[in-house]
Amino acid sequence: MPRHHHTTGAPEPAAHDVLDPATGRTVATVPATTPAEVDEAVRRAADAQRGWAAAAPGDRARLLRRFAALVDGHNEELARLEVREAGHTIGNARWEAGNFRDVLDYTAGGVERLTGEQIPVPGGLDVTFLEPLGVVGVIAPWNFPMPIAGWSCGPALAAGNAVLLKPAEATPLTALRLAELALEAGLPEHLFQVLPGAGAVTGDALVTHPGVAKIAFTGSSAVGTSVMAKCAASVKRVTLELGGKSPNIVFADADLERAAATAPMSFLDNAGQDCCARTRILVQREVYDLFLDLLAPAIAAVRVGDPSDAATEMGPLISAAQRERVRSYVPDGAAGIRGSAPEGPGFFFPPTVLTGLGPDAPAATEEVFGPVAVVLPFTDEQDAVRLANATPYGLSGSLWTRDVGRALRVSRAVAAGNLSVNSHSSVRYWTPFGGYKRSGIGRELGPGALAAFTETKNVFISTED
Ligand code: NAD
Repeated sequence: MPRHHHTTGAPEPAAHDVLDPATGRTVATVPATTPAEVDEAVRRAADAQRGWAAAAPGDRARLLRRFAALVDGHNEELARLEVREAGHTIGNARWEAGNFRDVLDYTAGGVERLTGEQIPVPGGLDVTFLEPLGVVGVIAPWNFPMPIAGWSCGPALAAGNAVLLKPAEATPLTALRLAELALEAGLPEHLFQVLPGAGAVTGDALVTHPGVAKIAFTGSSAVGTSVMAKCAASVKRVTLELGGKSPNIVFADADLERAAATAPMSFLDNAGQDCCARTRILVQREVYDLFLDLLAPAIAAVRVGDPSDAATEMGPLISAAQRERVRSYVPDGAAGIRGSAPEGPGFFFPPTVLTGLGPDAPAATEEVFGPVAVVLPFTDEQDAVRLANATPYGLSGSLWTRDVGRALRVSRAVAAGNLSVNSHSSVRYWTPFGGYKRSGIGRELGPGALAAFTETKNVFISTED
């Protein structure tokens, strides 16, 4: 009996077509999980979790490492599947499957190290335990299906939880394959289940289910806000990894050649469908023209095309609808730099840098989630920080300068969770990742990854006679 109801009134499809974004063709049709099936999955997961939490830490770690090894052994298969369902370049997709493996390995190393504290108190002994939450719901977007699923699923499992993963409608295939590999590795049945389906139905059933202790949501700020509100009703734990509008701040004293050479892929990677994309390029006024002169050939050199070709640097967008959305941010006849993109089938959009817009233009303030960046001039350090922070988002950012003091001052002044100096790196599985402001709440990865999927219990034991 379904206990949750879809509220939009539109009939929900019983299955979702998965399209190849490079051709527009259907590659699979995946049945949607009904709320009744979600309910059943929660019940089974809760049973499996009890045994998992009671198992010896070393045994849990070993199974997670075995899972990691199987993912490693299937890297090419998983990567090809990601190219087909998400249009990722094959190079990226191999990295993504490798990232899932690495997160499993890293978090497996945390199982035996999930220690509490012993705190000095008079009259007894005080210790803390980090206890698993129970059943965790993970809701993932389509832009990095494997890594983002892994960042929550790995630590949650390692900390002793069961995990129900709801992949995005467009990209369920790698998630389903990963669940098979988990079983093959020997993880208990029902401990890690993948529940494909519509966000508003299957996702909502997870969010509102009383048996789900925490939701780890990655996706748009709009949906994330509603997920948090629904979690509030039962004080369900929630982490949100949401959108971004990250700055790339180029000071006049920077290595401009490197800053210009690296700027394109800092917003074109994954065709710009990256929450960390550096889509606001802020350039100190005295080097503005010079920087654009250096940037233009770098944009023109980006190889856009067939994602299964190892030489391709940028593939298509996820869907025709996404391409239309992206197009709507680029005013007709807008000044700027445009790269090339294949004609014909596939949801390709050319690399685009807009130069003539003010800081309030939609392309400069909203998350485009496509290969579009704006360049804005700034006068001095204070102005750079002001512009960088003039956004409701706060996920990532880069700054380019040779002045160490300035690098530190600006890093501390920009309100964002992940900053890089003279580089664009932002996500390493062993460092924390997450957003300030409306980019999210909570952190994933890094030393605190497992603890985020636990409750801290404090126990005082009296030593009085
Ligand atoms: P989305 O919010 O539309 O969907 C994300 C997931 O939520 C999907 O699985 C979807 O089915 C599900 N969902 C949708 N409605 C729901 C509902 N009412 N209840 C429960 N679940 C629901 O986002 P998207 O378009 O798939 O992903 C793009 C967004 O994700 C961008 O804004 C991007 O910045 C963000 N993102 C953030 C990070 C990060 O770590 N901060 C990483 C990647 C992507």
